[in-house]
Amino acid sequence: MQALVYNKNSDKKIKLTERDYPKITDNLDVIVEVKISSICTSDLHIINGFVPFANNNIVLGHEFAGEVVETGKGIKNLKKGDRVAANCITFCGECYFCRHGYINNCIKGGWELGCKIDGGHAEYVRIPFGDTSLTRIPDNVSYENALFVGDILSSGYFAAEMCEINKGDTIAVIGSGPVGLCAMMCAKYMGASKVIAIDKNEKRLETALNKKLADYTINPDKEAVEEKVKELTNSIGADGVIEAAGEDKTFQLAWKIARPNAIIGIIAMYEKPQILPLPEMYGKNLTFKTGGVDAIHCQEILELISQGKISTDFLITHKFPFNEIEKAYKLFANRPDNCLKIAIYK
Ligand SMILES: [Zn+2]
Ligand SMILES: [Zn+2]
Repeated sequence: MQALVYNKNSDKKIKLTERDYPKITDNLDVIVEVKISSICTSDLHIINGFVPFANNNIVLGHEFAGEVVETGKGIKNLKKGDRVAANCITFCGECYFCRHGYINNCIKGGWELGCKIDGGHAEYVRIPFGDTSLTRIPDNVSYENALFVGDILSSGYFAAEMCEINKGDTIAVIGSGPVGLCAMMCAKYMGASKVIAIDKNEKRLETALNKKLADYTINPDKEAVEEKVKELTNSIGADGVIEAAGEDKTFQLAWKIARPNAIIGIIAMYEKPQILPLPEMYGKNLTFKTGGVDAIHCQEILELISQGKISTDFLITHKFPFNEIEKAYKLFANRPDNCLKIAIYK
């Protein structure tokens, strides 16, 4: 079969390569035929050498959906022919962390696919702990609709959840990339009455407004963000802030635009340590929450998609056949303004 393999010692770093079909190696394994996949910024982080625990010579890809072709003897919930969405985290469902919902810290799993073991940028992929790490897709939900459930949509949902949103809250989201846009959508679903999108990319702000994910947009290149947020919140500040951009400036902006006693949900992945200026924020009594996504709500999220309550269809801006996946990576790495996510079809 064809698979996109990461080789840190080559100039190109990635190459479509002939590999053996994956085999069941554990009773809880499931083999999935990948029907659709996408490229995540984390894939680029691996290629660029920012993920020290990533293995060389693995098949990349942790964002995909497909059809079950084979199940290990211990699999109870899935059978051949089931349409499934993959979780970016494979998890056992039984350890201390899994039982508490912290699957990102599963002692037997975690971010394995396309990082430590072969991932979904291939014709077929082996999924460990298939019963928990795959979610059956409802009949009226297409592979396209389900593509982002296990990674960026879960991340957006997780970010909104971090802010403990109450009905009527104003939520500011810094960064209107795919995760930021998903966070806006989930914040609305969770009851936010005002969502403020902040980004320098006008195309993304337009998407946020046009798709009704946000009610107001602020471009820091054109407006003073702190003043504008004050203006939109009767001088109080945002009830919750989601930081989905990951820069030094945006980290500082996050606590500055929050009202006293707000929660700041940090979903962004930083490349550098950040500074908490405690003397300056004294008395503001803020709560910071940080996180790599605990993608435990895939079932509920698919249900919401099935009921038409949320949809990520606006995210797919580019499409490629699988045999042109190298081209797709190139495009994603040079991300033109109008590119949000790329769908790659078998
Ligand atoms: Zn990802
Ligand atoms: Zn576990």
